[in-house]
Amino acid sequence: MSDWEADSDGDGGGSGPAALPEWRPPPAPCAGSGEQARSPEPERAEARGGRRLEAWRPPEAGSAAARGPQTWQRRGEQGVEPLRFRLDSTVIGALIGRGGAKIRELEDLSGSRIQIIRGEHEAEVKIFGNDVTQNKAKMLIDDLVKRCSQTYPAERTEKAFFKHQDFSYNDSQDSSCDFVKCRNAPQKSVIDWTSLRENKARYEAMKWADLPPIEKNFYKESPTVASMSREEVENWRKENNDITCDDLKGGEKRYIPNPACKFEDAFKHYPDVMANIRKVGFQKPTPIQSQGWPIILQGIDLIGIAQTGTGKTLAYLMPGFVHLDSQPIPRHQRDGPGMLVLIPTRELALQVEAECSKYTYKGIKSICIYGGGDRKGQINMVTKGVDIVIATPGRLNDLQKNNFINLKSITYLVLDEADRMLDMGFEPQIMKILIDIRPDRQTVMTSATWPDGVRRLAKSYLKDPMIVYVGTLDLTAVNTVEQQVVVIPEEEKRAFTRYFIDTMKPTDKVIIFVGKKLTYVIKLMTYQVTSVSREYLFSLFMATENSVIENKL
Ligand code: AMP
Repeated sequence: MSDWEADSDGDGGGSGPAALPEWRPPPAPCAGSGEQARSPEPERAEARGGRRLEAWRPPEAGSAAARGPQTWQRRGEQGVEPLRFRLDSTVIGALIGRGGAKIRELEDLSGSRIQIIRGEHEAEVKIFGNDVTQNKAKMLIDDLVKRCSQTYPAERTEKAFFKHQDFSYNDSQDSSCDFVKCRNAPQKSVIDWTSLRENKARYEAMKWADLPPIEKNFYKESPTVASMSREEVENWRKENNDITCDDLKGGEKRYIPNPACKFEDAFKHYPDVMANIRKVGFQKPTPIQSQGWPIILQGIDLIGIAQTGTGKTLAYLMPGFVHLDSQPIPRHQRDGPGMLVLIPTRELALQVEAECSKYTYKGIKSICIYGGGDRKGQINMVTKGVDIVIATPGRLNDLQKNNFINLKSITYLVLDEADRMLDMGFEPQIMKILIDIRPDRQTVMTSATWPDGVRRLAKSYLKDPMIVYVGTLDLTAVNTVEQQVVVIPEEEKRAFTRYFIDTMKPTDKVIIFVGKKLTYVIKLMTYQVTSVSREYLFSLFMATENSVIENKL
């Protein structure tokens, strides 16, 4: 759709295409008559239900267009015989251009005035000026139309212009409205939408024909959870970060499952998961886990609006482990990974991978694929066979395009931190990746915010999801810790760090965040001044700093 149409649509009123009022040349003194050439008449046009032409701006004073009338009205007060022809409406948007820019350019180049009277299917074009300027304008328009690859009807005219042009008449048409085609112009291709749609459905069916069935429902609600009253559920949600839930499926709303308040409520039937949880010593599920697990474990798509630090990674990983291990086709017989986590940055990808490895379940193998990492090594690992791929969209799309990874085997998809992925411009890569993932998969999406872009993504790629919003966490600092913020210039950073380390007491601990080098941050976290020399700590800081600078270069 052209900008023009986009602009005009808003005024259309939805009652079918309205005829446009005439666009007239801008006000200019008429030689000899003292009359003013009139600008469009918006009020009259609106009264007729037509579209207003206020988007049009008259040419700049002094431009060729504004000077035009002095030339084209050389035939005096009797008026000028315009060169008239008709064009298919589909090319009018391109002829007018954004806000009338193109038509003004054509007028300036040719020195003529161009008038367009738009009808439902065709528009009449009138070119005012002398033979030279009219022909010049006509040639420019023809060129534009050719570039739009259109054929168009034109009115037979006796003007010499047509005799010199590469046009042929189609005599089978009514003589008052002959169709004239540019010989060089390609034929207008008619798009057969019905056949395209049928073929798409057929192609889709073929593409997914040989895939194994998916099993998605693994939830057995515990008697304690089942016995919770509505009021108890409401109270629990209020007390747990003010969770709110909704069913986004159209039609009658489904019942949002009661929260699994204890780990056993969700994973009693999966002893290996329970063993993992006991191993790390977590007391109880976080709110997003309690409310998310019963939904995901039932095979329902989930949107979790939750920030980092809410336990959202385990909210999707744990049910993912169960899903992977409970498919009808055993893991080792599958032709590729079963679970994909798309995530915006390498740091986050590494963190999720660390969680995956920490809670390792029945030998499930995971790998991390991110831009800037060793591409060859990543390809080697993927081709050796893995169950879970945690990837940033750019690098994964690269491996997908080059056929290093089979995405058809994925049955459990996670779009983690979707808002950040969109902010970072990954939407095109996500779209390309998802083309190759079976549409009947289960999808979980997390996001810290819920703006329009994320809603659109969810609508396109999740099927009848439920949504769980986790209210903001209480992130205020404890009042027993004194906080000091010191802002120092870049060039003083190293000297300040040196001074800070040197003045630390032997029992002090330090975490130094250096750029985005999270791996180094983790290393630094383990240091205590008692166990490591100040010199070594500072040299570590400097090495990290230098590597950040090198990476930037
Ligand atoms: P995330 O929001 O996924 O980045 O998780 C933040 C941190 O919370 C991670 O270090 C997790 O290991 C930890 N975590 C996840 N679930 C729980 C839980 N139920 N209890 C305590 N800590 C948890």
